[in-house]
Amino acid sequence: MTLDNIKDEIYNAKNIVILTHDIPDGDAIGSSLAMYIGLKQIGKDVDVVIPKYSKTYAFLPSAEEIKEKGRNENYDLAIALDCGDIKRLNGFANYFEDANSKISIDHHEANTMFADYNYVNPTAPACCQILIIVLKALGIEITKEIGTCLLTGIITDTGGFKYQSVKAETFEFAAELLNRGVNVSSIYKKVLQTVPIEKFELRKIAMNRLELLEDGKIAFTYITRKDEEETKSEDHDGIVEMGRDIEGVEVSIFLREVGDDEYKISLRSNDYVNVSDICLLFNGGGHIRAAGGNISLPFEKAKEKIVMECKNNLK
Ligand code: 5GP
Ligand code: MN
Repeated sequence: MTLDNIKDEIYNAKNIVILTHDIPDGDAIGSSLAMYIGLKQIGKDVDVVIPKYSKTYAFLPSAEEIKEKGRNENYDLAIALDCGDIKRLNGFANYFEDANSKISIDHHEANTMFADYNYVNPTAPACCQILIIVLKALGIEITKEIGTCLLTGIITDTGGFKYQSVKAETFEFAAELLNRGVNVSSIYKKVLQTVPIEKFELRKIAMNRLELLEDGKIAFTYITRKDEEETKSEDHDGIVEMGRDIEGVEVSIFLREVGDDEYKISLRSNDYVNVSDICLLFNGGGHIRAAGGNISLPFEKAKEKIVMECKNNLK
């Protein structure tokens, strides 16, 4: 069974690198740090490599130990967390590819099974929820520090326990973490409630540009690199959800300029549109109600194309 293989690989490895997807969210960083603290607890020589992340997560235990780069020599073992596709490991895929052994632990619907050992559960609302099981199987004690990282991932990936992916067991796991001293209200406030001024300014721009198309069933907005420069914020978390939360909207589209005629797509849906399927057409993937992709076209053409694909999925 994969979990047994994962246990063997981790116990046999001397040095380990932990990697996650680019533009890492709370689940990506939370699962990486929980795994990092856990592996240190059992005496492993481990690096957690995340080149750039939002300062929202700087409060997490051991965040100060995150490295921007890995080592020059190959690692015995690489562990990819919360990442459905090796392409999303981006600039650091080499640490993964060059490692002697490769593990992926993930919850993405469209996971491409890119590792030697893939422990993937698309029904888990967060990678952090899967990690509770994995860490316990490894004999790692779930300390308050590990629990804080894990609950952060569960809170961010469930929008604060409100998505359809939340099951009774999510609360059971959360209860277990609370019993270890984790402070749910403080984490919630830090990761979902408090908005830095720069982020608020960026959000305001996206909000002012938000359009409702197709009889209000599609919401569309975007931000440019110039907006990010002017507001000094690259934190676009929550923008695509503003469109999704408008009454009558079925799909919310958010385009973010990342290069010349290059856009990152974020999609969210409410009741029936499978946005993971739509994003597969745009070199991306994700979950049924939250997915992302990439498009290389001038803005108006990019907008037209993504709106058309979303429109084709409306009832
Ligand atoms: P977001 O819109 O927040 O960037 O991403 C929503 C979901 O889609 C996340 O679960 C994320 O992991 C996934 N996702 C976003 N961009 C991509 C992409 O380019 N490729 C794949 N495979 N998944 C993506
Ligand atoms: Mn996740």
